[in-house]
Amino acid sequence: MMKVEDLNKSQLTGAINVAQLLKDPTGSSRNYDVNTIIEKQPEGSIEGEITLIHTGQGILVRSKLSVQVELVCGRCLKRFPYSINFAIEEELRPTIDISSGLPLHLSEESEGFTIDKNHVLDLGELIRQYILLNLPMKPLCRPDCAGIKEMKVYGST
Ligand SMILES: [Zn+2]
Repeated sequence: MMKVEDLNKSQLTGAINVAQLLKDPTGSSRNYDVNTIIEKQPEGSIEGEITLIHTGQGILVRSKLSVQVELVCGRCLKRFPYSINFAIEEELRPTIDISSGLPLHLSEESEGFTIDKNHVLDLGELIRQYILLNLPMKPLCRPDCAGIKEMKVYGST
């Protein structure tokens, strides 16, 4: 299981080269099992399929993932497993023209995720950001967690 601290400080490694897909006709797609893309993730942490679609302008990443993370309860500080499910739908634009090799000037609104100059798409970072976005703001091990029990130092009566 992934620890939430690890997600905050380190990156998920999952680069995929889309040069061939960008050369394929618009509408072409590829399917991947997320486990074949994300390296070094603890066993069974992320499950799902990823579809990459050539849109003509870029690559549309479409996926439904379920992720197991270990969170720390905001009240009792216990660690507990938490699963999140979310969908990814994100179009990434290339920064280099696939046929001419010339840099493409991206418009203001398309900043964010891009495909780098080697036609590599960083799916690990994309997935990491989606996981962080989908984590609860105030994680609780259970809805009625009472928190750390105060010690009765004054005894009874
Ligand atoms: Zn708790």
